Amino acid sequence: MFFVSTRDKEDKVTPSQGILKGLADNSGLYVPHRIPKLDISIDRLSDMTYQEVAYEVMKLYFTDFTEDELKSCINNAYDDKFDTKEIAPIVNKDNAFFLELFHGPTIAFKDMALSILPYLMITSARKNDVNDDIVILTATSGDTGKAALAGFAGVDGTKIVVFYPNGGVSRIQELQMVTTKGDNTKVVAVEGNFDDAQTSVKKIFTDKALAEAIGKKGYRFSSANSINIGRLIPQVAYYVYSYSQLVAREEISNGDLINICVPTGNFGNILAGYYAKKMGIPIAKLICASNENKVLYDFFETGIYNKNREFVLTNSPSMDILISSNLERLIHLSCGMDSAQNLELMNDLAWDGSYQITDEMKKNLKDFYGGFASQEETCLKIREMYDKTGYVMDTHTAVAKCVYDKYVNETGDNTKTIIASTASPFKFTRSVMSAIDSKYDSMDDFTLVDELSSIGGLKIPQAIEDIRNADIRHNNKCKIEEMEEAVVSFLQ
Ligand SMILES: *Cc1c(COP(=O)(O)O)cnc(C)c1O
Repeated sequence: MFFVSTRDKEDKVTPSQGILKGLADNSGLYVPHRIPKLDISIDRLSDMTYQEVAYEVMKLYFTDFTEDELKSCINNAYDDKFDTKEIAPIVNKDNAFFLELFHGPTIAFKDMALSILPYLMITSARKNDVNDDIVILTATSGDTGKAALAGFAGVDGTKIVVFYPNGGVSRIQELQMVTTKGDNTKVVAVEGNFDDAQTSVKKIFTDKALAEAIGKKGYRFSSANSINIGRLIPQVAYYVYSYSQLVAREEISNGDLINICVPTGNFGNILAGYYAKKMGIPIAKLICASNENKVLYDFFETGIYNKNREFVLTNSPSMDILISSNLERLIHLSCGMDSAQNLELMNDLAWDGSYQITDEMKKNLKDFYGGFASQEETCLKIREMYDKTGYVMDTHTAVAKCVYDKYVNETGDNTKTIIASTASPFKFTRSVMSAIDSKYDSMDDFTLVDELSSIGGLKIPQAIEDIRNADIRHNNKCKIEEMEEAVVSFLQ
């Protein structure tokens, strides 16, 4: 297996090189040169633990890792940092299967990949005789930041810098990041939105002069964003696992089609679901759920991607994104991995803020259905679900549930469906509790945590207890154009 850049078919790397680099030259993304088929039956997978399934998936992509290396990465990642042995449990409520991806250390689905990425990266460095310290640069819409900090804090041979949009994340998300310990960490609030921060990070990555300058000091950059294949591939595992678990529980028979519905921002999570389908998991529709930043909904409707629009700050901030980086990987697939054609479209995006795909490419995307939910619909759905079942969804999961219900109404398709449940409601306590009852509006954040625990019958996650009384350790702010300087000064 090798990985190839979406923007240059001559740019090929081994899996470990791809993980180390993060982003290809001229901002291309690495993709597997072909998507492998699972070489084990679903019946056998349905007897396996999460860790065993993860191995069966990842071994097909990370082919230059030995069995011992990969298993050691997996077992170090998916251990009792997660609050359940199942790692990703499935909860059946109101005609949908909620795949709860938030049982890791920072209570969002980003833990599913970021708890393993540091191990993959250190192993990759060893494999390639890299002795430089690896500097992880991360732009976050709120959840990647803390998950990456938790993964890399204190890891020898790494440093990590996280940029989040000032005022663009929930109070709990912000507290999780700014209370992070570890000398190798730096957290900066940026005056701009996620897209600005991500674009600027990509620029820092591709700055050759800067790479050379920090190289002289013994550093090299890599990425913890889902542009890194070391992030994307581990996410495929939970789609394979959830299907095989539904078979094990006799909710479906082996071979039955299912749909998946994913609350989407940077398009990494849903793309992992598409990879699972291509590997042989019987997935019919991939329902892409957006919030009011519905650039992806418009794209699937019209074939035109257009980011020239108002950026809306919503109550599902981790999806407040107008440039969905991983869509590029799907575009590249939809034009038959033609890197020249993909490059042209991505240049259109960079220069004009929009591009249009061909009818032929659009036909290749027919498995995707785009939908969106307004903030008001999202709040109503949280309340409706709570009143009906007692189950408390976070705002992102609620966006997905709204879109799923719209999809069923519109199409009458009753295929069993997995909804990716991407965050614990404790991470967005204020929005969730206000949606349930306006009497909560006046309470402070940690009172709301206690109220949520009581009305939902939910144990307060350790991640929340950890920040209740923690000291603020990071108090940095900068402008978009000062981000590079912030990185350089951290490395002094
Ligand atoms: C990151 C995130 C998303 C969006 O996932 P993508 O892979 O960026 O599409 C959705 N919900 C939550 C809670 C997230 O943290």
